[in-house]
Amino acid sequence: MAKKIKFTDKTTKFLEKIMDLSGEQVTLCEQCGTCSGGCPFVEEMDINPSQIMRLVMLGQEEVMESQTMWLCASCYTCTIRCPRKLDLSKVSEALRQVKLREAVDNIDIAEIDAAEAVKLPTIALVGNFRKFTG
Ligand code: SF4
Ligand code: SF4
Repeated sequence: MAKKIKFTDKTTKFLEKIMDLSGEQVTLCEQCGTCSGGCPFVEEMDINPSQIMRLVMLGQEEVMESQTMWLCASCYTCTIRCPRKLDLSKVSEALRQVKLREAVDNIDIAEIDAAEAVKLPTIALVGNFRKFTG
């Protein structure tokens, strides 16, 4: 059965965030499928590149569960062939950034004893908070 999609503030915000981070006008995608047809890694992807663009366009955050953003090798084959000159590697990078920011704090500051915290080098604290953000 076809999934009914509702446009809400949440879907709009997600689309805007990805466009902002990637610098790509995702809404220009015309869903021609050329990117998926030429991607050297498409067979390994659970959602192909044009479907990723569609989900982002619709503001569907389920796209964050896909492994595709981690498999994109930024080879630019899709960008060269895209009739809209969209750079999917930048969209993948934006999705990775959002994912990595979800785990922004590796340790909970509330769990650190205040007396101990003052003895720790700042870099050690910051390094732990941001450990997953690369
Ligand atoms: S090639 Fe470009 S326009 Fe076509 S589906 Fe891919 S991103 Fe969209
Ligand atoms: S840049 Fe990424 S999505 Fe585009 S063809 Fe290369 S691997 Fe596939």
